[in-house]
Amino acid sequence: MNRTDRKLRALAAAADRDLLDPLAGFVDLAGLREAVEDLTKAFAPLGRVQHTVAAKACGLAPVLRYLADLGVDAEVASPGETAVAEAAGIRGARLVLDSPAKTTAELAHALAEGTAINADNFQELARIDDLVGQDPRSVLGLRINPQVGAGRIGDTSTATATSKFGIPLRDNRTRIVEAFAERPWLTRLHVHVGSQGCPPELMAEGVAAVHDLAEEINTHRRQVTSLDLGGGLPVDFASEDPGPTYADYVATLLAKVPALADGRYSFVTEFGRSLLAKNGFLVSTVEYTKVAGGRPIAVTHAGAQVAARTVLQPEHWPLRLTALDAQGRPKTGLEVPQDIAGPLCFAGDLLAKERPLPLLEPGDLVVAHDTGAYYFGAHYAYNTLPRPAVHGFTVSAHGHVEFTPIRRAQSLAELVADAGAEYVGALPEA
Ligand SMILES: *Cc1c(COP(=O)(O)O)cnc(C)c1O
Repeated sequence: MNRTDRKLRALAAAADRDLLDPLAGFVDLAGLREAVEDLTKAFAPLGRVQHTVAAKACGLAPVLRYLADLGVDAEVASPGETAVAEAAGIRGARLVLDSPAKTTAELAHALAEGTAINADNFQELARIDDLVGQDPRSVLGLRINPQVGAGRIGDTSTATATSKFGIPLRDNRTRIVEAFAERPWLTRLHVHVGSQGCPPELMAEGVAAVHDLAEEINTHRRQVTSLDLGGGLPVDFASEDPGPTYADYVATLLAKVPALADGRYSFVTEFGRSLLAKNGFLVSTVEYTKVAGGRPIAVTHAGAQVAARTVLQPEHWPLRLTALDAQGRPKTGLEVPQDIAGPLCFAGDLLAKERPLPLLEPGDLVVAHDTGAYYFGAHYAYNTLPRPAVHGFTVSAHGHVEFTPIRRAQSLAELVADAGAEYVGALPEA
């Protein structure tokens, strides 16, 4: 059964079992397994590869655990992501710590655990100097900004001349080579060109720049032994197709830098969106419908709290939507341009504007596709809206759908506690 068929079965089953009350996220577990298989198969020509998932794409503990059981470790970039990964049983050398703002405490924790660290800048490197000792268990590397330029989306392009991430290569080549010469424990280079909107050719340019730098550092003695290639493979949000495959990407990499397959380096990958986006979707019930200035509007429960980028930058992050009836079956009938609105109290809280869909009615459902990365896993707490429940699902050969909980919906009591309720009355008298 392919992913589209599994999704249709899951939607009908979710409606039947009252899981859509009023908003929920879903993760296709078989789809995740297939994505991991594609990933590991594609990178096999590169030899030793540690695959990690970027926790920020979907930092839900059961998802990280599921991926870890499939052999995918985790890339973390905050104390929270680290704690979730560790709670999921992924720790030590199975974690890679990246972040431009690591505190001394975070660095000390990673070093004590044997977690790999990619230092973002020279000041962080100086802090590591003070903590590292003689023979660190952690693999230690430096994040390089290859300054190869931006992709289609400025906000997720990390290899521009002036990006806040990593050490800019053009400006610092000599200093980087010296930094390695002074620190025998520095053995890795890291590069992450950007996320969504960066074509594989641009990503390969970044990898080529870093491979070239590794060769230069290794001229006198072999010091750099691994390259962390980051993530960033783009996803096709316009159709059910996945977009460029991992195999396409590895072919692009090897065409640009054939030496990557010569066995002299091991590798790390940190994909997020390409593993997860297509294997998740959001479903909301339609609460009300209306017509304003001649335009039909469906008011749903899915807005910026679960789709911040789509709502705030609709030109960069459009989502495919499908209209379903209350039984979870695709609605048919004449398509009418409609606004699909969320529940948040600002006018721009729209998942889509003038989207042609069969006319929605209260009780219908709206599916937001390809939201397995950076959507329900990246909540925005506007209007004190709760994080929705997330369910994993599998579909048997006979079409039976089994749901397993990934996250409960946030309760009102939890929302109240998060709002500082324990300090009610603690402010000085007004
Ligand atoms: C966000 C990020 C990733 C993952 O990017 P995707 O586009 O989700 O694959 C990997 N590495 C780093 C350092 C990141 O910041």
